[in-house]
Amino acid sequence: MSEQAPAPFEHVDEDWQTAVAIVAHPDDMEYGGAAAVARWTSQGKKVVYVMVTSGEAGIDSLDPAECGPLREAEQIASARVVGVETVEFLGYPDGVVEYGLPLRRDIARVVRRHRPDIVITSNFRETYGGVFLNQADHIAVGRATLDGVRDAGNRWVFRELTAEGHEPWNGVRQIWAASSPEAAHAVDTTETFDLGVASLEEHKAYLAGLGGAMADAREFLEGFGRGAGTRLGTRFAVPFEVFPLR
Ligand SMILES: [Zn+2]
Repeated sequence: MSEQAPAPFEHVDEDWQTAVAIVAHPDDMEYGGAAAVARWTSQGKKVVYVMVTSGEAGIDSLDPAECGPLREAEQIASARVVGVETVEFLGYPDGVVEYGLPLRRDIARVVRRHRPDIVITSNFRETYGGVFLNQADHIAVGRATLDGVRDAGNRWVFRELTAEGHEPWNGVRQIWAASSPEAAHAVDTTETFDLGVASLEEHKAYLAGLGGAMADAREFLEGFGRGAGTRLGTRFAVPFEVFPLR
């Protein structure tokens, strides 16, 4: 009774058809979310990935000009493993993404084009809990996603999008930030855990360059998935902080 257990997670709503995941880098979905995506695509849902950067600053020994195309190819292969056919790259510079109107506008355009029910992004809180600091691009992209989704629904914000033929879309019901320390919801990934591992393992050059504990895909995802699973009452799970919009 001396130590308080963390509150149990609630299951996320799975009554939807289309989701768009908007994240900063190739590998962001694979470090946690990919097993959940595999579950949803196996249920017949459609999930699209949008990478704000191509992750070209992610491998110390490789020049960005070479690294960017390699990481794009690894991301496309990784997405295929979990049933995602569409992967788009917005071309922002890796490592120095700024929150601002251009990013909000580009995210609003993505939302208007794909017209999803759910938008997924990465944790944009300062940490992952405790003292494990988050990364600047994740914070910028997450915050711009919260705003860009709402901009997508307003005809009078970014009027150039309407001129391009992208009509407003107000259909996003919830935004989910994966692996947030504020998460109160989660999805059971017990059945699709191995697909999540296989998806991360497609980032071959990146993992080889990374080394250390995070380069062992199965080990890392097991530790992470078990912790969340304990709070959901399942073997493995992925946590999400849920922001309802309607
Ligand atoms: Zn990242």
